[in-house]
Amino acid sequence: MAELSTGLTGTNNLTASGLAGLKDFKTTDGRAVRHCKIVGTLGPASSNEKTLRELIEAGLDIARLNFSHGTHEQHRANIDLVRRLARESGRQVSLLQDLQGPKIRTGKILGDKQEIITGKTYTLAYGIEQTVPEIIPIDHRELVHDVAVGQRVLMDDGLLSLLIERIEGSNVIVRVLEGGILKSRKGVNFPEAKLSLPALSEKDSRDLLFGISHGVDFVALSFVQRPEDVLQVKKMIQALGADIPVIAKIEKLPAIDEIDAICAVADGLMVARGDLGVEGSVERVPGFQKRIIAAAAKLAKPVIIATQMLESMIENPEPTLAELADVANGVLDGADCVMLSGEVASGKYPVECVRTMARLINEVEGWTFKRPVRYRTDFLARHDNKWEVHEAIARAACEAADELNAKAIVCLTLTGAIAMSVAKWRPHTPIIAISPRRDVVQRLVLVWGVYAMQNPLFYNTDVLLQDLPALLKSMGIVNSGDRVVITAGIPINQMKPTNMIKINRIP
Ligand code: ATP
Ligand code: MG
Ligand code: MG
Repeated sequence: MAELSTGLTGTNNLTASGLAGLKDFKTTDGRAVRHCKIVGTLGPASSNEKTLRELIEAGLDIARLNFSHGTHEQHRANIDLVRRLARESGRQVSLLQDLQGPKIRTGKILGDKQEIITGKTYTLAYGIEQTVPEIIPIDHRELVHDVAVGQRVLMDDGLLSLLIERIEGSNVIVRVLEGGILKSRKGVNFPEAKLSLPALSEKDSRDLLFGISHGVDFVALSFVQRPEDVLQVKKMIQALGADIPVIAKIEKLPAIDEIDAICAVADGLMVARGDLGVEGSVERVPGFQKRIIAAAAKLAKPVIIATQMLESMIENPEPTLAELADVANGVLDGADCVMLSGEVASGKYPVECVRTMARLINEVEGWTFKRPVRYRTDFLARHDNKWEVHEAIARAACEAADELNAKAIVCLTLTGAIAMSVAKWRPHTPIIAISPRRDVVQRLVLVWGVYAMQNPLFYNTDVLLQDLPALLKSMGIVNSGDRVVITAGIPINQMKPTNMIKINRIP
């Protein structure tokens, strides 16, 4: 018993990493750490030990591996590096594999970039290597069959726009409406065309296999159009004997129409604003963002806001006021995560970007948490019993924490489900999840306000509860006399779903 006890206070390896992961639990003004999490994309600017270490120190919670870029070898190296540095720094960092999906891109551009001149004509073609700047390779086999004269072509998240003038054999002749710099492997959209593309390309299947065998924590699927797209990937993961949550990237208009159905089958959503703006229109993106967040909130699923959050920091050490306001609004909207892409993957100031975001989130949460908790009313009623019990406990735990000014809500949880239910009420206190499962701990990194740790003592409730005060004190979450709200499913060793709330005063 005594030996088990020391496990909780830090000498046991598993516990030690969990404890250390929460070592800087307070911000300088004494508030608990950020509730909104930060996703950052790895790329040439961040795939080295020094930068990645600094990114993790600065507050990177989830490393995104974008399989639209880079080789398996590079991704493997990044995965190993993230895991090692997370372990060394004692923080929890999860890995998100982002599958390219049926996204059309430019091929390799000579010298990796060229200027596209407004008013000039260019030729788009499939299956060629670029030899002259006037002919641009496009990696879509059905290009000439899928498009028509008079349609628009957009490149690099809509930065460049072109108009189709003629189709000649296997060439598509376009005139540039809005020119600019075009780089290799930039996205190409045909907003008015009906494209013949499968949900998962051959490359996606190969990449998914790679992700599964390397134990990524989440898989994000690009260009989801319908619930079946998500189900197809989930089935594939299942068939391979794995169990990895699937995040649906919402970046096509049809997906907006079916958002509730997609959310119901996915494990989380991403507001992929770049392509959403191009596929729809940019003015509609802020509205779409709110709809997508609301859909996720209804079902207590995590949602990530992505693209151009601190875009100008790719080149500059300071963000614009508009960018700060955008991130702040995402936090206020209740996003679980805000994401950095090019800023961290290939920008000049990757670490400053994460620092800026972390500071801003702390600031915004600082003032929102001064307001009383507003209980949300926009959740769908569910009629299965287990869910109702969960709901009632989650809400009651939040109310009790609020009323008693508790310093933490602690969830002893096998699957993490109760921590997600608690999080959806957006309580002011941190949510500490303790689970025996490492995969659950890694997944909860994505969820608003939840700090999870793996604990081997999970099945020994008495010891766990007895040692909890010392554990929370060592993390700086509570002092003597503070209250904490605890949820659990007892008896724990019978693997019961959560059925209890306990309110403890820290001795
Ligand atoms: P997506 O539509 O999936 O977001 P993207 O091309 O917009 O794809 P981001 O992850 O948003 O890619 O990153 C923005 C830019 O950063 C990319 O267009 C690319 O120029 C660069 N980049 C990102 N990851 C890598 C990488 N692994 N290798 C090289 N360049 C990268
Ligand atoms: Mg995209
Ligand atoms: Mg992008």
